[in-house]
Amino acid sequence: MLKKPVSISLRLTIWFGGIFFFGWVLFGLVMWQSLKSTLRADRYQTLARRVDRLQDLLAKTQGESDEDRHQVFKDFAHATGNGLAEIFSADGSRAYPSPSPAASAFPWPAVGSGDGERFLHVLAAGQPYWVIARPYSLGEQSLVLYAAAPEAGNLVILQNFWRGLLTSVPVLLLISSLGGYWMSHRALKPVDRITAAARSISIGNLSQRLPVSNSGDELQRLAETCNAMLQRLDSAVGQIKRFTADASHELRGPLSFTRTVAEVALRNPNADPESRRAFADIVEEAAKATSLLEGMLTLARADADSLDTVQEPVDLSAVVQEACGLARPLADERNLTLSTSMASVSQVLGDFSSLRRLLWILLDNALKYTPAPGRIDVALSMVSGRPTLTVRDSGIGIAQSDLPHIFDRFYRADPSRSQVEGNGLGLAIAKWIADLHHAELLVDSDQRQGATFRLVFPPRNL
Ligand code: ADP
Repeated sequence: MLKKPVSISLRLTIWFGGIFFFGWVLFGLVMWQSLKSTLRADRYQTLARRVDRLQDLLAKTQGESDEDRHQVFKDFAHATGNGLAEIFSADGSRAYPSPSPAASAFPWPAVGSGDGERFLHVLAAGQPYWVIARPYSLGEQSLVLYAAAPEAGNLVILQNFWRGLLTSVPVLLLISSLGGYWMSHRALKPVDRITAAARSISIGNLSQRLPVSNSGDELQRLAETCNAMLQRLDSAVGQIKRFTADASHELRGPLSFTRTVAEVALRNPNADPESRRAFADIVEEAAKATSLLEGMLTLARADADSLDTVQEPVDLSAVVQEACGLARPLADERNLTLSTSMASVSQVLGDFSSLRRLLWILLDNALKYTPAPGRIDVALSMVSGRPTLTVRDSGIGIAQSDLPHIFDRFYRADPSRSQVEGNGLGLAIAKWIADLHHAELLVDSDQRQGATFRLVFPPRNL
């Protein structure tokens, strides 16, 4: 199964978001725990102060009648806003009547046997309470002083804390994710620039270099390393091009010598038929090899030269007339109809002989790949303000799968390889000439209805 690629920015954002989320939850838990124990300690202090006060009152009123002390105790309960308080004897019985019905109904924890102070959690009528229980000796009397306070206030504070935490999580998560995405996107922007530049570099423009930022980071090193690699490729390709140009050039001499010698030998009337056949074969093969070498030499020079060299007004109708003048006798010989139409005579900036060569390559192909009886139509027209030269034939056409490759060097579609002579360099040269004129060379073909080549020049440049 194909895995959908996830961009680095998105992955970093997910990481930022995830780390932030866990960090925030951890922070929330720690804060919650600390708030809980602070509130508990606060409650303890309030209750401890209340019991201290109760203790003082008991000490001060020692020796007074039970009635009076009960009154003092009631006053105390009133002064603490009916705060829950109770005084038990060591045997568990109430030392004084409860100051309020709430205190008498309260489920006070058992007096117990220990003599240390206790701070307990108690449920009364479904509500949680904190209770302090402190043993106290008053003369002969052993008492346990109780005070209680509801925990509800604390719970509301804790609840509000959670609520605040939970509502802030999505907002902060969104802010941190957007911030993370923006930062990573910004940090990785140079990668997009390097990718676009690297994509635009091909064998034809290896001298171009990737943009290098002065950030001193990994991306700068990456761009510099790629540039060093391009430098090595450029010089290696340059060597190969020079070698091809030199080899083609050097081979031309011996080849034309071989061809001349064979042609001279062929003219010898005393040569026996077998030798004549052999000489004729040599002449034919040498001619093919010469044409191949010419093509290779042209392309090798094209690779070495700058593309913006040719700039003179060229009359396209004259180009059509010359090239078609050469092709017409061949078309007649092969029983093909060659027609020309020049609705609008047009001039372009360029090089006459290169354009004639381009048209000749297209005509030569049309002649080669159109079986008799057939048609070849050459038209010169203006299409959307762009001078356009069209060569249409009624020949064997080109398969859709071959169309993207026919301008590649040495590419020949299957039927041509076996049936028609050629070397697969013609259209590569034609494409180079088109590029030289900033023109587009387009092809359209239906295998049953022949092929159409269109040379579309830039909008009128004269
Ligand atoms: P070649 O020397 O083989 O003609 P080209 O580069 O001129 O080399 O053409 C490349 C290939 O494109 C040819 O081999 C042929 O298969 C195909 N092709 C070119 N022009 C035509 C055409 N007019 N009709 C059909 N096929 C064509």
